[in-house]
Amino acid sequence: MAETKRNVTPISDLGEFGLIDRITNKFKLRNKSTVRGIGDDAAVLDFKDKQIVVTTDLLTEGIHFNLMYTPLKHLGYKSIAVNVSDVVAMFATPRQVTVSLAISSKFTVEAIEELYEGIYLACEEYGVDLVGGDTTTSLTGLTISVTAIGEAKPEDLVYRSGAKKTDLVCISGDLGGAYMGLHLLERENEVFKVNPGVQPMLDGYDYILGRQLKPEARLDMLSVFNDLKIRPTSMIDISDGLSSELKHICKNSGVGAKIYEEKIPLDNQTKKMGNELNINPLVAALNGGEDYELLFTIPLADHDKVRNHPDITVIGHMVDASEGTLLVASGGTEIELTAQGWDPLKND
Ligand code: ADP
Ligand code: MG
Repeated sequence: MAETKRNVTPISDLGEFGLIDRITNKFKLRNKSTVRGIGDDAAVLDFKDKQIVVTTDLLTEGIHFNLMYTPLKHLGYKSIAVNVSDVVAMFATPRQVTVSLAISSKFTVEAIEELYEGIYLACEEYGVDLVGGDTTTSLTGLTISVTAIGEAKPEDLVYRSGAKKTDLVCISGDLGGAYMGLHLLERENEVFKVNPGVQPMLDGYDYILGRQLKPEARLDMLSVFNDLKIRPTSMIDISDGLSSELKHICKNSGVGAKIYEEKIPLDNQTKKMGNELNINPLVAALNGGEDYELLFTIPLADHDKVRNHPDITVIGHMVDASEGTLLVASGGTEIELTAQGWDPLKND
């Protein structure tokens, strides 16, 4: 065969330490709080008088990602971005991450290097230091666990519990795109399984594909808030869908909420794909998840500050707890929201 074979190196050629060195050696430290990174028994961090936020996410092959259509580089990027998103949702600045892997024998050194290419890019984008992790083998598939550490002045932290009865409900960006992107990828994957010769039809859907494969944490929103002189009273990142996240805020804050269907921002590609796949984009926004936008509440008095901001949409307001968590449909009907967010541990 004339075809040039790609270099593939079994991980056993390098061994655990060789692999760790290979994938981590180009990471440089950029934060003052990182006293010691990779290479000792533990990282050493110094945050002076700040408070520390710590968050972890675990991603398993076949449950959280499908390598049939997820490039490893994107997966690496996403695994960092989703953790940074949780730090940002506390109004904290992300500083360090650790990455732990369980790798089966089907992965080559080059495949893990690709994963780390994405991790590297995300660390650059969000200004975080990779300060450690663990590497082990698994019988089947790939498992990635990322822990992110951030810092904030105690008075700057924003919890889920601070929403007041008259606050406005806001979100950054638009919703439902990641869910539509996932369904598009799943559709094309099914076609591919039946007929591997067919080219996937993904043209014109770059935005929603990006929303699914390479989501961004809204770290930029922290400066938007600072510039607008806004302090959210409560905040959460939208990983499971708007309904579920809004209910978390309501429950933790002891209030209710009313949001309006026609105010929920949807991208054109989200709507177009919804038409094509016969999925209501509103359902994607409410229950789809993985958009990693921020859902937050602000005092009513701050309305003018956000009214015309391109990154912020007011979708409703908080109400008394006795009213519940309601969606006001375009026709005016009020529907109690249920948390149908993605919960892998819950029986239907
Ligand atoms: P230990 O035996 O103390 O667990 P390891 O030999 O597992 O240490 O790891 C050596 C160093 O490399 C440590 O600093 C550890 O945090 C780091 N490390 C191990 N695996 C990874 C990984 N997948 N990504 C980043 N750093 C890693
Ligand atoms: Mg170890």
